[in-house]
Amino acid sequence: MTSPQERYDLVILGSGSTAFAAALHAAELGKSAVMAEFRTVGGTCANRGCLPSKNLIEAARLVYDAAHPRYPGLTPVHMPFNWAELVAQKDEIIQEYRTHKYESLLDDPDHMQVVPGQARLVSDHEVEIQSADGARRLIGSQILIATGSAPSIPDVPGLSDVPYLTSDLLSSADDPWGTELREQPRSLLILGGGYIALELGQMFARFGTQVTLITRGSTILSGYEPEIAEALTEILSPRSSRRKGCASSPERRCAAWNARERGWPSRSSCTAASTRLPPNGSWCPPGDAPIPRRSAWSKRAWR
Ligand SMILES: Cc1cc2nc3c(=O)[nH]c(=O)nc-3n(C[C@H](O)[C@H](O)[C@H](O)COP(=O)(O)OP(=O)(O)OC[C@H]3O[C@@H](n4cnc5c(N)ncnc54)[C@H](O)[C@@H]3O)c2cc1C
Repeated sequence: MTSPQERYDLVILGSGSTAFAAALHAAELGKSAVMAEFRTVGGTCANRGCLPSKNLIEAARLVYDAAHPRYPGLTPVHMPFNWAELVAQKDEIIQEYRTHKYESLLDDPDHMQVVPGQARLVSDHEVEIQSADGARRLIGSQILIATGSAPSIPDVPGLSDVPYLTSDLLSSADDPWGTELREQPRSLLILGGGYIALELGQMFARFGTQVTLITRGSTILSGYEPEIAEALTEILSPRSSRRKGCASSPERRCAAWNARERGWPSRSSCTAASTRLPPNGSWCPPGDAPIPRRSAWSKRAWR
C-alpha cells in the first residue's frame, strides 16, 4: 500500500537543472514535486560539468596567458600553480553553488524535495526508488524524465581492464562515485573529439599535461561546420605554438607563412624570415600545404 504522502503532482527522475526548473515551476503553481537522484543533488552542470570545467579552464587560461603574453614588451613568465589547491577551490565553489542554487530551495518538502536513490518506472504513474535504505514507491499525476546524459564508454578492447577516466573527472570529492581526478596527469589520451574533449584537453594542455586526442573520423567536431574543426585543429595543434617561434625549418616557415597570410601578429625577430617566404608557400613540406587565405570575417573571428 502506498501512503498518502507518497503521491505527488509531479515525480521527476533526476535532480539536475532541468529537474529543478520543472520542480520550481510546479511549486510556483502550488503543486507538489519530488525529484529522485542517485548521485549528487544539482546534476551534471553544477557538480561535474559546466561549473567545475569553466572554473579550471579559466585558471588554465591565466597560466597560459602568463607564458604567452599578447603584447610585445611583456615578458613571458612561468606561473607556478598548485593542482591540489586549484581542485580544492573548485570543490568549494561547487559546494557553495549547490547550497545556494539547489539545496536552499528544498526547505519546503510539501512543494519540493529530493529523494535519494536510483529510480525506475514501474507504470505510467509509478516510480520505484531504490536506495541503501530500501525501496520507495512514488505516484505522480505527471512523471518527468530528466535524467540527462552520461559519458558513453566505447567498446575498445582492454579498456575495461584499465582505470580510465571519463568527463566526470572534474566532479568534486563528495561525489559518491569517486570519479574525481586527484592529481594532474603527466599525459592524457582522450578518446573523442567533441567539444567536451576539446575544452578539457586544452585545459590540461595549458596546465602542462601532454594531451593526445584520438578521433574516430578524420576531424574533430564531426557534425559541425568543417571550418570550425579546421580552425580549432590549427589553434590546438602543437604547430600553432610553433607559430610563435622563429621560422627556421621548412615546416616552421610554412607555419609562419600561414600565420602571416591570416594576419596573425608575429614576433619581430621572425619577420625577416617570414617576409622571405615565397608567396606560393612552396617550402611547405608534403601534407603541410599552406592554408588558403581566409575571408576578412574569418580573420576577425580568429583574433
Ligand atoms: C565536462 C562538461 C562540461 C559542460 N559544460 C557545459 C557548459 O559550459 N555549458 C552548458 O550549457 N552545458 C555544459 N555541459 C552540459 C550540461 O552539464 C548538461 O547539458 C546539463 O547538465 C543537462 O542538465 P539535465 O538536468 O538535463 O541533466 P543532468 O544535469 O545530467 O541531471 C540528470 C541527473 O539525473 C540523475 N539520474 C540519472 N538517471 C537516474 C535514475 N535512474 N534515478 C535517479 N537519478 C538519475 C543523474 O545522476 C543526474 O544527476 C557540460 C557537460 C560536461 C560533462
